[in-house]
Amino acid sequence: MIWIDEDKIVSEIEKMKPKIVAFNAPNGLLMKIEELASKIQGLFNLQIITFADPCYGICDTVDNEVEKLGVDIVFHIGHNVAIDKIGKKTILIDALDDIKFDEVLKASITTLMNYKKIGLCTISQHIHQIEIARSFLQKKNLEVIVGKRKGFMKDGQVLGCDFSTAFNIRKSVNAFAFLGQSVFHALGIALSTGKPTFMLDPYYREVSDITPLAVKMSNKAILTLYKALDANNIGIIIGLKEGQTRLEKVQKIKDELEKHGKNISLIALHEITNERLTQLQNIDAFIQTACPRISIDGEKFDKPILSIPQAEAFIEILDGKECKNIFQSNRWV
Ligand code: SF4
Repeated sequence: MIWIDEDKIVSEIEKMKPKIVAFNAPNGLLMKIEELASKIQGLFNLQIITFADPCYGICDTVDNEVEKLGVDIVFHIGHNVAIDKIGKKTILIDALDDIKFDEVLKASITTLMNYKKIGLCTISQHIHQIEIARSFLQKKNLEVIVGKRKGFMKDGQVLGCDFSTAFNIRKSVNAFAFLGQSVFHALGIALSTGKPTFMLDPYYREVSDITPLAVKMSNKAILTLYKALDANNIGIIIGLKEGQTRLEKVQKIKDELEKHGKNISLIALHEITNERLTQLQNIDAFIQTACPRISIDGEKFDKPILSIPQAEAFIEILDGKECKNIFQSNRWV
């Protein structure tokens, strides 16, 4: 069951006395947010607006959009990090899953024993379990390292585009254990570290080796990159979601590609979908600077669409350099 830090919401409302508040949360939490909104409504005399657009990550805040609606504070729920506030109005509210890892940890021992030194990571909803898991594995004579926090991340926490806590310890471990049921994040750890990675799913109590999938996805990403080499007209997509607008990166990629004689169009989008991109018929290939996962394991696109790491490798190839291990870095944005 998911626990949301309602006390923090109540105390922020008591402190700031807003007239209008907004809630912003990932799809999986929307039903809970509806219940929470009516509970808060019962406690305070204020107006509540729930943002029901898809919300994919901590990059997906609505700090600017709430200005149009006269909202005083917006509670962004479920992407817990080590800071409390983003922008002028967004307050981050923890949502934690109370599922236990005992059974899946027991089931993982035989596999993890083959690697002896294990890096341990997880996502925000299970972050409170990481020390319990570490201590369990250590009692089984495994050497366990949890990567130290970097920026606004917590110790051992990974995002879908930031694997610093895993990447920085990759040379000290032989494999990674990811706590959670998210192939998306486990795959990112495997790609960014280049190490065997096992997903410890507490719901099905299953241990899955993610490494073969990582090899497949990496090969697919490289193939897309080579397909894009023939493109003359390249669209560079600027993400319009609040944490996905990376203008400096866009300019740098544009400058590099123009040096190689490519015709560049700049395109701005909130949601990057194949359906939107098929409208742009003169473009041969796209580079999207918004969210790397759209290119790596998002929906199928008719034309090549490269993420930032793929675009950087693409430029290296145009420069006559060799491209290898394109995803092995701490961040992909
Ligand atoms: S950019 Fe993508 S992977 Fe990174 S936090 Fe946002 S949604 Fe997640």
